[in-house]
Amino acid sequence: MIHGFAANVVRPLSLKWDREHKIDDEFLANFVAMASSMGGPAASWGVQGLGASAAAADQKSVTGEMKKSTAMITTVLSAEELSWGDAALLLSLPGPGLGGPPIKATGTAEQMERFFSVFKDMSKGLKWGAYALTEPGAGSDVAGIRTSCRKDGKHWVLNGRKCFITNGARASWNVVFATIDPALGRAGQRAFVVDKGTPGFSVGKIEEKMGLRASETAELVFDDVRVPEENLVGGEEKYTSKEGFMTAMKTFDNTRPIVASMAIGIGRAAFEYARDFVKTNYALSRHTPRYAAVAERLARVGRQLEAARLTTWHAAWLADNEQPNAKEASMSKAMGGQAAIRACIEAIEICGVEGTIQRDHQMLEKWFRDIKVYDIFEGTGQIQRIVISKRLFADLKSF
Ligand SMILES: Cc1cc2nc3c(=O)[nH]c(=O)nc-3n(C[C@H](O)[C@H](O)[C@H](O)COP(=O)(O)OP(=O)(O)OC[C@H]3O[C@@H](n4cnc5c(N)ncnc54)[C@H](O)[C@@H]3O)c2cc1C
Repeated sequence: MIHGFAANVVRPLSLKWDREHKIDDEFLANFVAMASSMGGPAASWGVQGLGASAAAADQKSVTGEMKKSTAMITTVLSAEELSWGDAALLLSLPGPGLGGPPIKATGTAEQMERFFSVFKDMSKGLKWGAYALTEPGAGSDVAGIRTSCRKDGKHWVLNGRKCFITNGARASWNVVFATIDPALGRAGQRAFVVDKGTPGFSVGKIEEKMGLRASETAELVFDDVRVPEENLVGGEEKYTSKEGFMTAMKTFDNTRPIVASMAIGIGRAAFEYARDFVKTNYALSRHTPRYAAVAERLARVGRQLEAARLTTWHAAWLADNEQPNAKEASMSKAMGGQAAIRACIEAIEICGVEGTIQRDHQMLEKWFRDIKVYDIFEGTGQIQRIVISKRLFADLKSF
């Protein structure tokens, strides 16, 4: 069903959104209404909400009741299909977005109710949440953030700057990471929910990106922003308890398989386009060495995408079955990004100059622009490979 929606509704609008650098609110509102009618939880609108909705619809049709254990696999399936249509749509979906997982993993019951209730009724206006960790000079090096926080009475005072924050400008609230002392590394970090409109909080520039242009990527500025202490995610004791805030944060390894699936969706779109192009345009040269060479290149792309997809589904299956999946989640992200980038490069090369030209019926040049960031955000490919090797040699203290 989601594939049909992606093919018939999303694809025809994809280039328009890319050119206009936005997706119309009306489209997003209709999308929310559609997902809502499928019965997913309002607290997780966005692609996870869509996955939960699809899982709910599926489970209800089979058993008459909702089971939890297919939410992640359904989410990654949905993410691949929608991204096959247009990847920026997923990043633009209303809902808490990446701001949801830290609150779900570590927030108090009162905070979950307060922050997620914002998304319960979007009939009077769309709402987004966002996750603000990256800073100039602190992307992969998350321990190196410099945005500061200090306690002052019943408030925390935040100062600093965040960059590349998806939906950060339009978000009703941002989960903002700051530090009481940079020398403490991750142990010194605190997460706050900063409401839009809080004095001292402003939006800097909205980035002009190479790809995913319809998705908003913003710079955020914090100048003596006073945040009420009730907005410290998890409350004070979370940061001193043994279990700790950062331990709980590890529970959201699950965003990596979703991002991997998005990449695979784009890569598959490019792969299918090139395959069909070859079928049509190479009809007279089927028995020539050139055809065999091109077919072999496509075969390699196809198997790399398939291997990445199965690894991603495995990571999702582990999550649904409440088994550790950090290594597999990183593997899926490392493989998905690389396989899809390769697919887009090969597809353009196979189609020749036609692949580089923007036409309404072909989007290879757009997919080529969109795909690169999938090996950068949500942990770069290099960082995923470090995570994987650390897990492989976890028993060696010196590694
Ligand atoms: C479209 C988009 C949306 C984004 N959305 C968000 C968001 O919503 N919230 C948010 O907080 N951030 C977001 N980001 C930021 C993103 O997470 C960072 O760009 C990413 O973490 C990489 O950081 P960096 O760009 O500073 O690169 P750097 O960390 O400076 O990396 C540069 C290069 O050095 C390599 N490198 C770094 N450290 C190591 C190491 N230890 N070993 C080997 N190689 C290394 C990297 O792999 C990379 O190749 C977004 C970025 C983009 C482009």
